[in-house]
This record gives sequence, structure tokens and C-alpha cells, in this order.
Amino acid sequence: MIFENIIGNEKAKEILNKALKSKNILHSYIFMGISGVGKKMFAREFAKGILCLNENSCCNKCKSCMEFNTDNHPDFMEINQLEDTKNIKIEQIRFMQEKIAEKPIISNKKVYIIDNADTMTVEAQNCLLKTLEEPPEYAVIVLIASNESKLLNTIKSRCMKVSFEAISDENIRKYIEENITKDVTPNMVSMCGGSIEKAKTIADKKEMYASLEEIIEKIEKSDLIEVFNNSEILYKSKDNIQELLDYINIILYNKKKLEFINCIQIVEDVKRRLLQNSNYDMSIDGLLIRMWEEVNEKYNRG
Ligand SMILES: [Zn+2]
Repeated sequence: MIFENIIGNEKAKEILNKALKSKNILHSYIFMGISGVGKKMFAREFAKGILCLNENSCCNKCKSCMEFNTDNHPDFMEINQLEDTKNIKIEQIRFMQEKIAEKPIISNKKVYIIDNADTMTVEAQNCLLKTLEEPPEYAVIVLIASNESKLLNTIKSRCMKVSFEAISDENIRKYIEENITKDVTPNMVSMCGGSIEKAKTIADKKEMYASLEEIIEKIEKSDLIEVFNNSEILYKSKDNIQELLDYINIILYNKKKLEFINCIQIVEDVKRRLLQNSNYDMSIDGLLIRMWEEVNEKYNRG
């Protein structure tokens, strides 16, 4: 079964599987949806299935599948945005058009993926339009995009749209548990916001996340001195402090108690000050003191 190793988006799997099985492959598709949900993995798997020489798509045994797996398939090409300008220029589309005019070598079709297609310049899009209007009969083009409004209507109207949705929290939790750490917390799941790509980055960050959860724990249950003694990570993380503070906000939000919700405002205030280059250590001092006061004042009152 194709796509079986990709999490979520069952509807998209169904549509693409059906197309592969019935050999009813259209000339152009748009894979649309927020970034990080696996659109590119889907597109590559779909391409491999289209190009496979066996009845059973993605057999992993035929010449086509072998060449695809080693990134050597002559009938497959991926167009990416340029490193420096972060867009796709008309020259890249022209190059693709030259290539697409040549008949396939191994397979019956040729597949072209345009990643971040919404970063094509208007000239590039107009140029691509010619191919979408009159594609060679063996050509399949898959556009991947997250911002629909950046694509010309004339492009969109010529492509079959396949929608991709955020991965459910339950699936994200399972993914982290099976691939990264058994100690998955609801806060880690929230941090991913439905993105598998973000979930993958947790492997490098789980210790940092655990330290931050401990700080909030100390704020709730210990005195201020102990809070300071356990907050070293904040003082050491000047380069990515905004990311740490975002995670603290998720912890605070998931506590679902008023005194913690109030602390989010304090964190936002410190984030702003740090962007304005306030004294770093003093800002962190202030953050810890104000959060501790907020939580423990309310605690005493209650
Ligand atoms: Zn194959």
C-alpha cells in the first residue's frame, strides 16, 4: 500500500491511491495546505507510483523505483526556490520546459514537482501556464503550495487541487512517542501545531522543553530562590530566547488556570523588550520575579 508510512491526511491518500490504481493520472495537480504536514513526501511518493513500471505502484523493485530511490530518475525532476531570493524565477520554468519536451526514458510518464510553487514570480507563473495549457501527453506536474492567494487563478483553474490538513494532536502525540521520546507532554504536542516537520525537531529540543516545564513547576511550588537556581537555561539561551519564551507560553496556557494565563502577558512583555535590546539578564530576572509573584499572590488569595 502506497503512502502507508505517511501520517494523517487520509482523504488525500484515498484520492491519490485511486488515481494510481485506475491509471487515471491528470496532467497537473496542486497540493495545497499549511507547511510541515508532509505535502512533499506525498508528492514524491505519488511521483514514484506514477513512474513505477509494475502494476503495483511503488514496487521498489523495478528499474524505475530503483532509480527513483537513488535520486537518479531521468524522468523525474524537482524545482525548488532559489536559496538567495527565496523564489522561483522564469529561467527555472524555461529550463523545465526544455526538459519536459524530451520524451521519457525509463517510464511511460515524466513527473515534475514544483515545491513552494506559491513563490513563483508572476512571470514564472505565466510562463508555466503555457505548459499547463498544452502539456505533452506523458507529462505530470505537481505544484506544492501553502499560500493559495499567491497563485494566479489561471494556474489554479488548470490543476486538480488536493487539500492537506494539519495533523491531529493524537497523531502528533503518537508520532513523537514512537519516533522521538516516550516522555511526550501535551505541551510538546501543542508546540507542533499540527506539523510533523516541527515534531521532528523535538528530538533536539526535548531536554530544553523539560527544563522549561521544570521552571514553571518551580514557580508554582517553590520559593523564588529555588526558581532562580533552576532557571540557568534561560540565562544561557540568548540566541533562541524567543523560541523558549514561546514554549513557556504554551506551558502556561495549558495549565488552564487564571494566574498562569495572566503570566502570558508578562512573557509577551519581556519578549518585546528583548527585541528592543533591553538588558538581557535583567529582563530574565524581571520575568521570573513577576511570574512568581503573579502565581503565588493568586495562590495565597485562593
Ligand atoms: Zn516499481
